[in-house]
Amino acid sequence: MSQTRAYAAFAEDKPLAPFSFERRQPRPDDVSIEILYCGVCHSDLHFAYNDWGMTRYPIVPGHEIVGRVTAVGDAVSHFKEGDLVGVGCMVDSCRDCQPCREGVEQYCENGFTMTYGSDDRHTTAA
Ligand SMILES: [Zn+2]
Ligand SMILES: [Zn+2]
Repeated sequence: MSQTRAYAAFAEDKPLAPFSFERRQPRPDDVSIEILYCGVCHSDLHFAYNDWGMTRYPIVPGHEIVGRVTAVGDAVSHFKEGDLVGVGCMVDSCRDCQPCREGVEQYCENGFTMTYGSDDRHTTAA
């Protein structure tokens, strides 16, 4: 586990505030990054304000991430420590269903994992 610091929205009518949380231990197919920069687009604002009625607080908005790879698992082949990488609005999917095998994981039949606001399929906690 690693401690992560961020700014989070805790309610739709409150400003962002410092937030600290534990990340799970990286798995063999995970890439760990140090976030260097993050843009904030309008969908981040919609999530922070719960405009779409599906926000689970606290939430750390921002899904235009640029970071530097700090570690990769044994099963990772496309990235290495030191690489500059970008992260969008999705971070995981089953990678086994037909849409995933065709490279359109946004249609994952088992549900994709968003960068924020959705469950991590590899943990029991949200
Ligand atoms: Zn966006
Ligand atoms: Zn899938």
